[in-house]
Amino acid sequence: MRPRTKRERLVAELSSKLPEITDAQIRWGKKHCFPHNAYRCKDEMWCSECGKMWVDTTGQKEGYIRCPYCGERLEIKSSRKKKLCQYEYMTIVTAVDKFQVLRHVEIGKHKGMKMGEIFYHSMEVCQQWITEDRKETVMARPMNMGKNAWIYAQPISIKNSVDYYGYNCYDINGYVYPKVKLLPILRRNGLRTSFHGITPARLIHAILGESKYAEMLLKTKQYGMLSFYMHRGCIYHPWVVNICNRNGYIIKDGSMYDDYLRLLDYFHLDTHNAHYVCPKNLKKEHDKLVEKKRKIEAKIRAEQKRKERIERMFRMKQDILSFIKRIQPFLGMEIKDKGIVIRPLESVTQFYLEGKAMHHCVYQNEYYRRKDCLILTAQKNGKRLETIEVNLKTFKIIQSRAVCNKTSDYHDKIIELVNRNMGLIRRSAS
Ligand SMILES: [Zn+2]
Repeated sequence: MRPRTKRERLVAELSSKLPEITDAQIRWGKKHCFPHNAYRCKDEMWCSECGKMWVDTTGQKEGYIRCPYCGERLEIKSSRKKKLCQYEYMTIVTAVDKFQVLRHVEIGKHKGMKMGEIFYHSMEVCQQWITEDRKETVMARPMNMGKNAWIYAQPISIKNSVDYYGYNCYDINGYVYPKVKLLPILRRNGLRTSFHGITPARLIHAILGESKYAEMLLKTKQYGMLSFYMHRGCIYHPWVVNICNRNGYIIKDGSMYDDYLRLLDYFHLDTHNAHYVCPKNLKKEHDKLVEKKRKIEAKIRAEQKRKERIERMFRMKQDILSFIKRIQPFLGMEIKDKGIVIRPLESVTQFYLEGKAMHHCVYQNEYYRRKDCLILTAQKNGKRLETIEVNLKTFKIIQSRAVCNKTSDYHDKIIELVNRNMGLIRRSAS
């Protein structure tokens, strides 16, 4: 994009005057942005720094070892990989004019199948220019369609900092080069050389006033809480930080601490009291409360299950009683012809047995609860043929099903037989 506003023109001009990324900076990036590993496969090891391979029969599978070729200290990893292709960002934090500038350099580290060949390449891909009023202008190289790679061949130019989806894809969390130059206001608001694991641009915006508590947390060195706050976006017990600060209590693990405060709330313990808010051993107190809560919740669940069981029993009883009432007029009814005997299911137990034998849902779907429905079973020589549903309002056959909801050879005969005797059913029902 061409620079259009006064601000964009200024940024474009200042950007063109920025010094080149220095060799010292690149050297730092190569050393600090990547893990230094010795990859072990059986007795062979190779060095991620010089790419050379050697034999090691000690069997050591973890810990550190020195490369016999380049002398680098390496962490041992068991891996069959022979190639390397890693990309990382180094972020150079500098100030120009009234702008806080973040220069993001992409560094690639590669090794092919051949041993002894590691090569790097680096390219400045993006710059974020931020002013005190939290306005941001982005200069960057274009990205490919998938937004997963920079197009190196194209120069850096002005970009929309927010994309089509409202997502800022230029908020890069790079390894911050230790020589940091900050605008005075950022120093005043507590920022030094470390960004405490938070994406630099996000932390800068936060302490310029975007987030309510970031500056306070940074100034009081509550870094654990700061990084939790920046990731979560809110603090539910902001007063607690003041109590901690008054008592010289540093929160190390923000998310566990937040969990702990919620547990205090759960047990109605006073989150304004330093005794609770500043535990000597956070993990121990946290785990104690978790266990206590677990027991209480288990009790509640057990009680709930007990109630449900009683309710189920009660309902079952009601169902049986009302079914017995409804089936009374049909008890002993029999329709017989040529060996086929059709009888109503006369108890809930019979529904269960019919459903089980015929592999259908007459019991599961609680047909015995349906008011206008009479269920009959058709049998021959004690063998179940089909289950028939008759509607007691319309006196029509709704369905007649054999095993697994299929139809038997006697299907038509059964239908004909029931229809012929519908008068009997109608008389019994009335
Ligand atoms: Zn080496």
